[in-house]
Amino acid sequence: MYGVYVHIPWCRLRCPYCAFAISTRADPPHRAYTDALLREWDLRRPLFAGRPSSVFFGGGTPSLCPPDELARILAYLDPLPGAEVSMEANPGDLPVPLSAFRDAGITRLSLGVQSFDPKTARSLGRGHTSDDARALVAEAQRTGFGSVSFDLIFAVPGQTLAAFEADLAAVVALAPDHVALYGLTIEPDTAFARSRRPPVDEDLWRAMYDAAAAGLAAAGLPRYEVSNFARPGHRSRHNEHYWRARPWAGLGASAHAWWPDGTRATNAADVDAYLAAADPLLGTERPAPGALAYELIWSTLRHVDGVDRAALRARTGLDLHVDPGLIRAGLLTEDEAFVRLTDAGFPLADGLSARLADALRVADPRGALPDTARVSDTRHPA
Ligand code: SF4
Repeated sequence: MYGVYVHIPWCRLRCPYCAFAISTRADPPHRAYTDALLREWDLRRPLFAGRPSSVFFGGGTPSLCPPDELARILAYLDPLPGAEVSMEANPGDLPVPLSAFRDAGITRLSLGVQSFDPKTARSLGRGHTSDDARALVAEAQRTGFGSVSFDLIFAVPGQTLAAFEADLAAVVALAPDHVALYGLTIEPDTAFARSRRPPVDEDLWRAMYDAAAAGLAAAGLPRYEVSNFARPGHRSRHNEHYWRARPWAGLGASAHAWWPDGTRATNAADVDAYLAAADPLLGTERPAPGALAYELIWSTLRHVDGVDRAALRARTGLDLHVDPGLIRAGLLTEDEAFVRLTDAGFPLADGLSARLADALRVADPRGALPDTARVSDTRHPA
């Protein structure tokens, strides 16, 4: 099982908090970019056995790409019958009706709603209003996709708990199949960072996150990953490749990949460099066992199924040792097969991953205790 992530870098404008590799050129070279993606797949396809079980068009703003170009990419990738094919779409950035994307083969939409609260939507500066977001949701639900997911942002500077709870109530009223919820992080070199607006403090962040987890669970969307909530049958099968440590291909400018042989690969981020390169690969890395173990713990602990101890041992030669204090504190549970977060542990997933990685034991007595290294999230939340 593997997925293919396809990065479509075009955006109409750069949002004030965005640090992603995007291009805001007025007239994107859609056809040339598709040609480059297909060339890249020719290079990577031999690394993967069989056909992809999911495809994810992320960005950027994939809904700015003409549907016939997406159909051309899909025909070339040739996913399995019944494969999940996801696309991110932003309110106000739809040159054609959503039905054209459905007809091109998209089965799942990830809508960049971010907020239904007019004040929060304005302060995010994304160039769409909360009315645009509602209109897009209505069109998506009318058109008929397998799943419709909302991307939401919380912890926006100036946002109150009451405003966020009202936003959450608006979300629940619109009956999404899936919600991906991200606390705003203020990245360096963004307009938000330059504005020096104070970030939301930790207690408020935690109160908002807990309100979301409780409210969405009560509405029939239990948490299945730190930031993701779904009705039964509507989890993101593509993103589960990341959280269950399965391989994926990454095509397009700035895309990351995890090949089946354990290699991490990164592409050139600059769109012109990507278009001009015979092979856009910027670098590859085979993480040492300690770094790989940290990566596996960090990515799989986030998911409700937790860290698979046997899989970790098989891939790294390292054993998990859980500090009994973390069990007593009610943050983790463990049995012979898995280590999992509790409800109280989910908001602390990153710190708990670091604690588990620091306590790795060498399963093979001939092995040396390897270095561990922190990794960052490769998922694109826009
Ligand atoms: S946040 Fe998303 S829509 Fe906004 S500029 Fe970044 S990639 Fe584009």
